[in-house]
Amino acid sequence: MQLLDGVKVSEEILKEIQSEVAARVQNNKKVPHLAAILVGEDPASQTYVASKVKTCDFLGFKSTLSRLAPDTTEAELLALIETYNADSDIDGILVQLPLPKHISEDKVINTIHPEKDVDGFHPNSIGKMVLGQDTFIPATPNGIMMMLQHYGIDTVGKHCVVIGRSNIVGTPMSLLMSRNTNPGNCTVTLTHSKTKNLKELCLEADIIVAAIGRPKYVTADMVKEGAIIVDVGINRIEDATKKSGFRLVGDVDFDTVKEKASYITPVPGGVGKMTICALMQNTLKACKD
Ligand code: NDP
Repeated sequence: MQLLDGVKVSEEILKEIQSEVAARVQNNKKVPHLAAILVGEDPASQTYVASKVKTCDFLGFKSTLSRLAPDTTEAELLALIETYNADSDIDGILVQLPLPKHISEDKVINTIHPEKDVDGFHPNSIGKMVLGQDTFIPATPNGIMMMLQHYGIDTVGKHCVVIGRSNIVGTPMSLLMSRNTNPGNCTVTLTHSKTKNLKELCLEADIIVAAIGRPKYVTADMVKEGAIIVDVGINRIEDATKKSGFRLVGDVDFDTVKEKASYITPVPGGVGKMTICALMQNTLKACKD
């Protein structure tokens, strides 16, 4: 079994981006500027946003973090996004999801200017991705593609089972893996909570991408010998031995599944690191000359 090490791979890619930014500075070119918006006080969201801002600092990007109160109205949030849309210094806009229930995520995503849509969630970006046109690809699936490419994993003709069909992970992942690219060129089965024979499908899979949000859901008896396992899940489970009182586990039962897998991503230190990397790449791409 080989570990797909998101820490190592993301460090390498981030260093490359850092060098590109340094070269831009030397050539008096604009430095990428990411505006992040966090509504409310969800602890996981706070951690994710903090880590994105920290990565911007490391790369030499500019960043602006707006922390908005949980009772911020939808109109107030949309107005802030419009301000950022109009600000020529800001290249990328990121609104941390999930949002409080009184705010429509669709409206928020649709308000971000497609040229600043570094999360790749805008209908323009998704539409272009489906058509194989150049665009911002959602960070988590794109990060996974970068990881597979980095390890030179040949996916052509393989059967890939994606578990979960969210707009931000499962659905774009299934599209990317089915495209005529490498990584890609898989025969893809997209599964969800209404799928009846998940275990049988998984047992036929050469590649499993688990994006469910259920701790350790994919167990060794669901996995074929030699399968490639990509674990997107980030779940907090209680752990009295930790100072925080919890620890993070994925959607895959890592300790047992690793005995059968040819490659596997750990949690933490796998897909999460690659997601930030892909977001930073999108922000660099958004920064026009
Ligand atoms: P969502 O809750 O939006 O989607 C979960 C999907 O899993 C749904 O499509 C749901 O089906 C499906 N599902 C739920 N239960 C089952 C089941 N028993 N069998 C098969 N499918 C099931 O989650 P996200 O896609 O946003 O996130 C998934 C996980 O990935 C979470 O743990 C999240 O924290 C993590 N994540 C990690 C990221 C990273 O950078 N590593 C980035 C984003 C998310 P249905 O549609 O029928 O409800």
